This record gives sequence, C-alpha cells and structure tokens, in this order.
Amino acid sequence: MSDPAGVLHLTGPVLVDDARVEPEGWVVGGRITFERPRHSGEVTEVAGIVVPGLVDVHCHVGIDSGGATESDIAVKQAEIDRDAGTLLIRDAGSALDTSFVHDRGDLPRLIRAARFIARPRRYLRHFAREIEPDQLTSVAVEEARKGDGWIKLIADWIDRDLGDLAPLWTPSQLTDALAAVHRTGARATAHTFAEEAVQPLLDAGIDCIEHGTGMTEAHMRVAAERGIPVVPTLLQVDNFVAHAAAAEAKFPAYAARMRAMHERRYDQVRAFHEAGVPLLVGTDAGGTLGHGLLPVEAAEMVRAGVPPAEVVAAASWRARAFLGADTLTEGARADLVAYDADPREDIAALAHPAHVVLRGRRVAGS
Ligand SMILES: [Zn+2]
Repeated sequence: MSDPAGVLHLTGPVLVDDARVEPEGWVVGGRITFERPRHSGEVTEVAGIVVPGLVDVHCHVGIDSGGATESDIAVKQAEIDRDAGTLLIRDAGSALDTSFVHDRGDLPRLIRAARFIARPRRYLRHFAREIEPDQLTSVAVEEARKGDGWIKLIADWIDRDLGDLAPLWTPSQLTDALAAVHRTGARATAHTFAEEAVQPLLDAGIDCIEHGTGMTEAHMRVAAERGIPVVPTLLQVDNFVAHAAAAEAKFPAYAARMRAMHERRYDQVRAFHEAGVPLLVGTDAGGTLGHGLLPVEAAEMVRAGVPPAEVVAAASWRARAFLGADTLTEGARADLVAYDADPREDIAALAHPAHVVLRGRRVAGS
C-alpha cells in the first residue's frame, strides 16, 4: 500500500506511558514505529515533546443547552476538541446519534455512551432518555447495545418535593442494571453530585464516577482499592454557585449543599489524589460548557494540588489504557500531540500544541 499520510519524524522525546520514554520515533502509514524507516521520499519533522493524543472522558458531542444539535454542529464541536489536542473522546451521553463520527477520518475517535438515562423531572430537560425506575435494567441494556461499550446513568439530581439532591434509583435497581450491562460486555459510568448516591454505585460495581463531589474518604478508599476512576470536572463544579443562586428561594437546602461542595472543590480533588483514586480528565463540554477546554480543566486539576505530571498522564496514556485505546507503542495508530515545552513541568504548555497528529496526519498546531 502507498503511504498517503507521508512519513513523519518525531524528534522527541516520545512519552509512551508511565514506564517508557523513547528518544525519537516515526510515523509511517499512519502507525508509530521506533525503527528508522528506509524511505527515500519526503520526511516531515515534528519537533517537540510527544504525548499520546489527549483524552476527554466526559465530553458531550451533539448537544447544546437546548438538547440534540444538528450533525454539522456536532462536527464543529469535535473539530474544536481536536484542535486543542483531544484525539479521543468518551462521550458521557448524547441526545444525538453521533455514530456517523466513526466514519469521519478528520474527527477525533469517539467512544459513545449512547443516551443518558434519567427519570422524568430528574435531570436537565431534552438530554436524557427519561424512564421509570423499574425500566432501568432493560433500558440500560438497550443503551449498552447502542453505544460503544459504555452507558451513562444519572445517579442523583434535585428532587423538587424533597428540596435537595437525592438518588434516582434504589440500590437493588442499580445492582440489577449494572449486572445486566456487564453481561453485555459494556461498562457503566454515573453522574453523581450527592454523597447518598455513591455507596450504592460502588456496591453495584460502577466502572467510573463523574463529578464525585459527594464522595467521602471511605468512598475514596474503595475507589482507590478497586481502581475506579473519578472524573472531577472542575469547570462544571465551578457552576455550582450559579445553580445554588438560581434555586436559593425555593430550595435552600439544595442551594446550601451545592455551595458547600463548590467551596471545597479543590480540597476534594486533592483528597482524591492523596487517597490514590485514579483520576481522569473531563471537560463536560456540550451542555453549557464550550468544547476545546481540556487544557483548562487540566490546569484546574493542577491548581487543586495534583502534580502536573500526574494530570498529563491522566489526560493521555492512562485514560487510553483505561478505555482500551492505543498509546504510542510500536505499530500503534499515530494519534499524538507535540509541545514545545514539557506540560509535565508546566501544565500551561498543554494549551499550546505545536503539532496535532491524527491518524498519522498533521491536523492542527501552532
Ligand atoms: Zn456531563
């Protein structure tokens, strides 16, 4: 086969994973190699420190504040993420069937969680498949079959009769649903703000936790022991003050809780890190937050006290390993980003990719 993407010389260093750094590498036919190719044609130099393409594990392609978008808007969202260095997205639920993205070689790779699962009046309107609790198992299995190996549950939301956050599902509903999802070979992640929702999720065998603002030290110990990652979404948690202000008059208990979680948001993320909870990076782009903010979310995690080298690993090779995606081993698919400065030393460097290479082609960069 000819080599449509040309040969790239990565002048390095190339960060493969936690254990391995290669001094240089090449991209041939869209694949990584560490053997200097015998190639008489043109070779393009890609200078800078190379990391496996960034991963946004909580990003909604195909929704905006009003629900499902048109496909062309979904494409624009994915392009903005790509140009910021995000070359793999695990969406955390979408109202649009974005499976067409799989056929677009110019867009980031996408792992879909199909439609969010919630109850009527127990999540943002227009986003979720809204069901009665006794349907949870059958609907979770249906969504698992539609998605790319993940489902997304809304585990807690404001209950307006109670005036506070409360779980949407009983512990036994969660246990049955997750067991059924796991039998299909899929994994489940859950939106959770409230403390009360966490233990039933852990008991039911949840695979990943979104937000986790209500997790206690005991929950963190379990997540650390079992290797269940948490996606802290600090940019989203920063909106808690606005949610609190909007709800203050009618739901003062809810408002107070949201404010308290906002106030301790950095302490919470530092506590995750100190407890040994695996962290992943998610922007929560799509509902109210813009796309392309992965470098900003990563900087927020550093601000919370997670060392920048840990955040870079979380945003790149560790997320890829967790999702079963390629890193930059010999023969891997060449999705990578190069930076002039080392983001493990200064996370601000993530905001300035010098080269973004997707499927072996340079698609963006300064
Ligand atoms: Zn979200």
